[in-house]
Parts: sequence; structure tokens; C-alpha cells
Amino acid sequence: MSAKPTNRRRFLVQSAVALSSVPLVAELLRQNAHAALPMLPLDNAQAKALQYVEDAKETTSPAFKEGSNCANCQLFVADTGACNIFPGFAVTPEGWCAAWALKQ
Ligand code: SF4
Repeated sequence: MSAKPTNRRRFLVQSAVALSSVPLVAELLRQNAHAALPMLPLDNAQAKALQYVEDAKETTSPAFKEGSNCANCQLFVADTGACNIFPGFAVTPEGWCAAWALKQ
């Protein structure tokens, strides 16, 4: 037997192993991206201006609409926990601020 079938078999096995690990690697990258963002500090000037709270149930803002929160806001990036108006920070899915806009 020549070396070619062995190399081909090894290549196929390595390819199968590599392909089977793609979802795991993607999940690890997603978790790492989420972990990499610091939580939005409540004393952040923009957060204060927009009345950001980590739990929508705590807001007393007259702009609050029942049922609204970061998780259903179009500015929320679920994969990373980021908010597009607070670059570099993560917000809680249960949070809320006055810039909330319904996810379409
Ligand atoms: S803009 Fe939306 S996602 Fe960002 S903090 Fe406000 S409610 Fe949450």
C-alpha cells in the first residue's frame, strides 16, 4: 500500500475533526466577545442623560413603555450584549434607557 491513502485518510479525519469543532469555536468566540465588553457604568454621562437602568422595572421615567427593555430594542446586539449608542460597553438585556426603539 502506498503512502497516499494514509495521507488522504489522515486529511479526511483531520478535516472532519476541524469541521466538527466549528460550532464550538463560534460559541467560544461569541462568549468571549460578550465577556470582553465591560458593563455600562451607571455614572456614565450618556447613560445618566438617557436614564439608563440595569433593570427596566426600576425606571421611573415617563418615557418608559411597558414591556420595553434592551432585549427587545433595535439598538441591542444580542451576541455581544453591546448597545449601539454606548460603544465599548455591554448593557443588560433586562435594562432600559430613553433611547429604546422597538426591534423590527
Ligand atoms: S438604546 Fe436600547 S439597548 Fe441601548 S441601553 Fe437603551 S434600551 Fe438598552
